[in-house]
Amino acid sequence: MKNEELKEKLCYKRESGYKKQVDLKEINDFCESYKKFLNIAKTERDAVEFAIAYAEGRGFKEFKRGMTLKTGDKVYANNRNKAVIFAVIGNKGMEDGARIAAAHIDAPCIHLKQNPVYEDSGLCLFKTHYYGGIKKYQWPTIPLELRGVVALKNGKTVKISVGSNPDDPIFTITDLLPHLGKDQMQKSLSEGVPGESLNVLIGSRPLEGEGDELVKLNILNILNEQYGIVEEDFLSAELMVVPAFDARDVGFDRSLIGAYGHDDRVCAYPALRAIAEGDTPEYTSICILADKEEIGSEGVSGMKSAHFDTFMEDLCEMQNARVRVCYENSTCMSADVAVGFDPNFPEVLDKRNGALINSGITLCKYTGSRGKSGASDAAAELVAHMRNVFDADGVIWQMGALGKVDQGGGGTVAMYMAERNISTIDAGVPVLSMHAPFEVVSKLDVYMAYKATKAFFKN
Ligand code: MN
Ligand code: MN
Repeated sequence: MKNEELKEKLCYKRESGYKKQVDLKEINDFCESYKKFLNIAKTERDAVEFAIAYAEGRGFKEFKRGMTLKTGDKVYANNRNKAVIFAVIGNKGMEDGARIAAAHIDAPCIHLKQNPVYEDSGLCLFKTHYYGGIKKYQWPTIPLELRGVVALKNGKTVKISVGSNPDDPIFTITDLLPHLGKDQMQKSLSEGVPGESLNVLIGSRPLEGEGDELVKLNILNILNEQYGIVEEDFLSAELMVVPAFDARDVGFDRSLIGAYGHDDRVCAYPALRAIAEGDTPEYTSICILADKEEIGSEGVSGMKSAHFDTFMEDLCEMQNARVRVCYENSTCMSADVAVGFDPNFPEVLDKRNGALINSGITLCKYTGSRGKSGASDAAAELVAHMRNVFDADGVIWQMGALGKVDQGGGGTVAMYMAERNISTIDAGVPVLSMHAPFEVVSKLDVYMAYKATKAFFKN
């Protein structure tokens, strides 16, 4: 055998997905819908609302405890409008296990404090508390919009969204001019913009007449006219500031998408499409869109919440199945973004093991930091199963690690699924500028996340 043939037979090739057969029209069509989703779903509540409406349009019904479901039935469970689980009942019983795709729909952003409105030096501002792992210096001097809800004492909820329509006003966080930035520029990137200075500019025109803080009073008056709220109502509000720009094609060749919140809506949207469009599966398909991943999956709407276990128990009880046996036989694709190899930062990335943009959905055998601390480490047998499933369905995929050893690290919902005795593996789309207000992914990789999740549900 010639060396070339031997090389072909023995060596593993990492190459661009464009070296393989890809249908550019399918990729582009899917990504156009994904971009629309991104523009609508900038918060977890937006994403839940979108996902439920999408699923209801495709035959999903709200799950009620005590329902009897048969093979092929489609249900969802809304967890407090901040997370949602979809299920399609499979041919096999619950004790044979489920196929679970778990993605998250929260993203790093800036939350308003509970008493946010104040006036200083003729300007009106919001006090904020950032959410998730942001680089604070990236948030001043960009256009921002306000989204969220104000819950009233009378039980009603007022939805607020200002800044997404071209006619809307927007907001911004100001930064210091370079002329006076001598001290600021000496500080480290993490200290240059302190958390308490991320105050959002919301107005400057005073009400006519006499009195104190008339700029603030004018803003409160506008809010009262438009939403019927008073300042005290902010105490029971969940309002967040997110970038006020739409998803756009990036590059002369339009091969990439730049947008806010790819992490992790770039896995959530393909998972939603995959579960909504699939045929009746062998194993029950579950798609969970979780909240609070960015702060450790805590709380009632995070992946650690028993909401998931309760829902799975409810499904099991219908068949007199035991949820612990269901978990034991289940497989979970923890669908969260991977780190895309960025040629600007080779010093922290391992080119041989990092995920390459356009090389497809990225399996991550393990996460964690230092000596794999905090890792969920998928078994070799599960990785082999996924290789088989993806290859059989023509999914373009790659194996990817987070970065160089000892450069940091991270994790996602995988470990919380694995702790439930569910075989779990990380898989997701590689992202550039992760957690920045404007993140970048490749269209080919987005489409492969969709194909991969479909293939995963089928097997
Ligand atoms: Mn994520
Ligand atoms: Mn993240």
